[in-house]
Amino acid sequence: MADTVLAVHGAGKRYPGGVDALADVSLRITAGELLAIVGPSGSGKSTLLHLMGTLDRPSTGTVHLGGHDTSRMTDRELSALRGRMLGFVFQQFHLAEGLTAEENVATGALYCGIPRGRRPAMAREALARVGLAHRMSHRPGQLSGGERQRVAIARALVNKPALVLADEPTGALDTATGRAVLELMRQLHAEGSTIAVITHDRDIAVALPRRIEIRDGRLVADIIQ
Ligand code: ADP
Repeated sequence: MADTVLAVHGAGKRYPGGVDALADVSLRITAGELLAIVGPSGSGKSTLLHLMGTLDRPSTGTVHLGGHDTSRMTDRELSALRGRMLGFVFQQFHLAEGLTAEENVATGALYCGIPRGRRPAMAREALARVGLAHRMSHRPGQLSGGERQRVAIARALVNKPALVLADEPTGALDTATGRAVLELMRQLHAEGSTIAVITHDRDIAVALPRRIEIRDGRLVADIIQ
């Protein structure tokens, strides 16, 4: 059986003020999966993403990342684990404007103990994987939206994470460009990456091998399709 990368068990999240954003969510992601977590606005996707990404802690239940019970770890231990195991992709790319594509990607290797001298070569390798070998020294302002998202994906991949969490990765792109970014996700998955795409877009969700549906803070479906 493939290794479990992430296991969420009975997780709930109550925000101050008493909003139950998530209740009793359990899911397991194994190495090599490509899946969607889908739900309408306000359903709890971002809250779940934050728990899965160890950026926030559940009010109830547990999150295990790479076999580690994250509730037993200090913030410092968690950020080291996160740097080693996770890559993040955001809707708005979050690239540094003053840095080249290669430098932006190299920042993805900052928090996982990779020696400084090896980072540029790793950044170039990651950029080649996303089809941007010819854009290494361009700055974000000189790149299209789709290219910027590819740079952000390369940054997420540079430390060879066990899991990439992509939050609405096509949300800021036109339909054709978004489709190309999804195609890239499929290619990376075929090459062995494990990727969870968080989206409100059902068309995206039904096109991926596994679909987890969230509604009103509850997991209502988990389907291999
Ligand atoms: P989604 O990402 O699917 O749009 P969210 O996880 O952002 O959903 O939100 C789920 C619910 O939790 C919503 O009702 C939202 O208003 C509430 N919520 C989210 N963040 C907070 C917060 N920091 N404080 C209080 N309520 C929050």
